[in-house]
Order: sequence, then C-alpha cells, then structure tokens
Amino acid sequence: MKNTHLVAATPATIARAAQILRDGGLVAFPTETVYGLGANALDESAVAKIFAAKERPSFNPLIVHVADIEAAHNVLLAWPERAQALAKAFWPGPLTLVLPKAAHVPARVTAGLPTVAVRAPAHPIAQAMLQAAGIPIAAPSANLFTQISPTQAEHVWKSLGERADLILDGGASPVGIESTVLSLAEASPILLRPGTISRAQIEAVIGPIEVLSQTRTDEAPRLSPGMLERHYAPRAETRRFAAHQQNHAQRLAAQFMARGQRIGVLYQSTLIAGTQHPIKMPDRPDEYAQQLYAALHTLEDTGCDLILIEAVPDDAAWSSVHDRLQRASQALDVA
Ligand code: AMP
Ligand code: MG
Repeated sequence: MKNTHLVAATPATIARAAQILRDGGLVAFPTETVYGLGANALDESAVAKIFAAKERPSFNPLIVHVADIEAAHNVLLAWPERAQALAKAFWPGPLTLVLPKAAHVPARVTAGLPTVAVRAPAHPIAQAMLQAAGIPIAAPSANLFTQISPTQAEHVWKSLGERADLILDGGASPVGIESTVLSLAEASPILLRPGTISRAQIEAVIGPIEVLSQTRTDEAPRLSPGMLERHYAPRAETRRFAAHQQNHAQRLAAQFMARGQRIGVLYQSTLIAGTQHPIKMPDRPDEYAQQLYAALHTLEDTGCDLILIEAVPDDAAWSSVHDRLQRASQALDVA
C-alpha cells in the first residue's frame, strides 16, 4: 500500500504541509536537530493534538519554531539586546531562547509558564514550511513520549504512524540531537539544556552564563520542566560503561548471551566480545551526535535485550552527547 502520510519534501508537499498547519493539523518535518511534530502555536486545539499524539504530559512545554527574528517578536513580550546578539550569531540554527511570552501564546504551549521557548531552525525544508505557513509552529520531537528522538522520516513513521497528518521526508537530520536551550528570562542567562551550540560559543557573544545542572539544581523543576526525567525508556536494558569497566560490561553481556538474548553495543574503542550488534561510533563529537539516535533506533529495531554504551570523554566538547547518554542509559552497576 502506498504510504500517503510519508512523502518526500518538494515545493508541492511543503505547500500542502503549510496548509495542513494553517487548518489546525499536525505535520512532522525535518529540522537540523531532529524531526519535529508541528502545529499552529497560536491555536490551542491544534497544540492539544501534539500532546495527544505523543502521549506527552502537559507539564512539558513546547518549543515554538519561527522563520526569523521578526517572526519571533510575534510570540514574545520583548526582545532584549542579548536575544538580538545571540540570534544574529546563531539563527537560523540549533539555539532555543526562553523569554517572556506574548499574551496570545496559549498556556498549553508553555505548560502554564509565563515564558516561551523559541527558535528559528536552519533546515531549508523547515524554513520553507515556516515561510509558507506564515504562523509560528509549536513542535517537540516527532516521537512518542520517552521514545528515541527521530532523525529520519522512517523513525517518525515507526513511532507515530498516521497520528501525524503528514510526514515530510527530508533525509537525515544533520545535527542529530536537540537544540541548546538558554533562558534569558531570569536575571542572568541560564543554560537549561546543552546542545551543539556550546556554552563557550554563547559566552563569546553575551559573556558569562550559568549552567542549570551546576548552579541551581533546586530550581531545576521550575526553570526547566520536562527536562528531568529520563528521556528514552527503551525496551532493552541500556547500560553505560567506561573503558576501565570493560570486564564488568563483558560479564553482564555474558549473562544475556547465556540466556540466548541479543546484545547491541555502541563503542568508540572498547569492544565487548561476542555481541551480535556492535556499532563503532565516531571519534568526533559532532559526528557522534549526528549518528547517535539512528544507532539506537537500529539496535531497537533488531530487538536487542541489552544495549551497552561506552561512555564518551567527560569534557566540554562532548557535553551535549554526554547529556543525551545520561538520559538514555544507566551507569553499569559495579559491585
Ligand atoms: P523538546 O522536548 O526537544 O521539544 O524540548 C522542549 C524542552 O524545552 C522542554 O522539555 C523544556 O525542558 C524546554 N522548554 C520549553 N519551553 C520552556 C520554557 N518556557 N521554559 C523553560 N524550558 C522550556
Ligand atoms: Mg523529545
């Protein structure tokens, strides 16, 4: 049967997507980070469909996608100088800014917060769709809540199927992990979520910032709702191991093998012997990020019962990948 929901992105299908969005429907579309599930951010009932389709809890606010700085003004109360400087440096691109919201942005988008998260994506298909639609588009990742984020149209189809009115296929997302999220709504800027636009790059533009996970852990639920729980709850047991824990990881693998179960491994240098699905991951953090979710999807599709992930270096260049691995896996129990 021809799949009428998943279509190649062309000028004609992008125009159709824009019309569906204006009519209050749901469109999954590629961005440079991951695929998003979009709806008209100013239409409360359209936004409600996103939460229903994803089975996402309503306390978890959405990112509003806009074509450019001017379109961002429309969903915000004010546009401070820091926002202008950052947007000039990094938009369109994978940086999300949290700022006080305009009154007409429905509370459902922001989970009742007085602030809204906004970003202008760089992906040409997302850009074309936003421009054709002419409205701000609220869009979380296009997957069921707690599943692996989608970086290919097939991942969206696997997770959401016909829950999206249309899925635009634009190939693999080039960045591969979710955007950096920075709050400009507090007295000083706070990094809420690391991404490929780094703390150092942001500080080069606006000076020193705080990092939520380091400074304000007690305020995290208020400042960063929805960011606390584990993101990915795979069917497989998913464990992180450091190179020096190779023997422990090998022993855990042996227990699964003895039961005839399947094991997948994401590794950089430490191979676990005898496993069915080893995937060698790149040495560069940007390439690792680009491939991470697709690798996890591959292991999930092969029906792995255990996924072992070699920990990545604990330094700034790897902080966004490190963050995603922390959410996707548990540290190996080492007795
Ligand atoms: P995603 O799940 O990738 O769409 O990212 C959305 C995340 O951005 C949420 O889970 C929040 O953690 C964060 N976010 C969105 N809106 C806000 C907001 N108004 N204030 C703080 N964080 C937000
Ligand atoms: Mg998500």
